[in-house]
Amino acid sequence: LTTADLIDEEHRICVCVRARPLNKKELTMKDLDVITIPSKDVVMVHEPKQKVDLTRYLENQTFRFDYAFDDSTDNDMVYRFTARPLVETIFERGMATCFAYGQTGSGKTHTMGGDFSGKNQDCSKGIYALAARDVFLMLKKPNYKKLDLNVFATFFEIYSGKVFDLLNRKAKLRVLEDGKQQVQVVGLQERDVKCTEDVLKLIEVGNSCRTSGQTSANAHSSRSHAVFQIILRRRGKMHGKFSLIDLAGNERGADTSSADRQTRLEGAEINKSLLALKECIRALGRNKPHTPFRASKLTQVLRDSFIGENSRTCMIATISPGMASCENTLNTLRYANRSL
Ligand code: ADP
Ligand code: MG
Repeated sequence: LTTADLIDEEHRICVCVRARPLNKKELTMKDLDVITIPSKDVVMVHEPKQKVDLTRYLENQTFRFDYAFDDSTDNDMVYRFTARPLVETIFERGMATCFAYGQTGSGKTHTMGGDFSGKNQDCSKGIYALAARDVFLMLKKPNYKKLDLNVFATFFEIYSGKVFDLLNRKAKLRVLEDGKQQVQVVGLQERDVKCTEDVLKLIEVGNSCRTSGQTSANAHSSRSHAVFQIILRRRGKMHGKFSLIDLAGNERGADTSSADRQTRLEGAEINKSLLALKECIRALGRNKPHTPFRASKLTQVLRDSFIGENSRTCMIATISPGMASCENTLNTLRYANRSL
């Protein structure tokens, strides 16, 4: 038996929530914290300053997940319980995906990409980099060393249903599906990486490419899905693939009434892809053969990650703690809950 044979079907999907601290702006606005994480797997949304009754677990505003991380949890810890267990999967010929889902400003990029709050852009603390580091460590283990695996990385963005290569000056790419339902992103650059440093450089290149030419970094990143992939190949053939995804902000509901047609279309596309994603994750968890991949570009390009015996997914739903974000927070928690 290999580790792959021993994977517990029930653990193909892991759904977690991460709350960030109130930020400067929220504190200035005197926003109040409405989130309490009373135990390692429970999130409660309540009136500010309310004395939380921990016995009222069954009320609507209480949610249970595989893990709930409070605002004192750092990326290392979040990583350890989410993406870390999936590194093994790709060495055992599996497909792994890890998503950050949530409202703009809730901490998706902080979790996946790293710390970009100060002047130093530090991508070494994000899940992309932590996963890459462990892939290179794992590669040295005798069991895997003898497989003679090579590591490659891709980094692309899905914006308004179109795919752009972040490692090739945002070249627009076509997605093709062949007769065998294999999906291919034509011309996607797959870079040879030998160490964590190589990966960090690519993340920097991709990040700067992602936001270049944009009036506001957040305005753009909130409307696009960023997909970073670590691919293992053995004699050229794919052995395993880890897709790490910083999703578009999920607060786009309001866009559907925007006066601007482009904004409306983008909002509708984001809603559609996040819905399709939830359905694909659910199907994976229930071992259903039919998964609605074609419903969106995001799920279409991730098709091969949702099929197969050894596919595993983890979702990190990020939430803002303030009362002002309460409605979005509840939407995020409900979505994450339904993916379970
Ligand atoms: P998103 O990508 O979801 O729009 P960001 O990751 O850009 O959100 O986070 C918004 C801001 O909050 C950033 O300045 C980020 O550094 C900060 N932030 C997010 N999560 C945390 C956290 N867990 N601890 C401290 N600061 C955080
Ligand atoms: Mg972001």
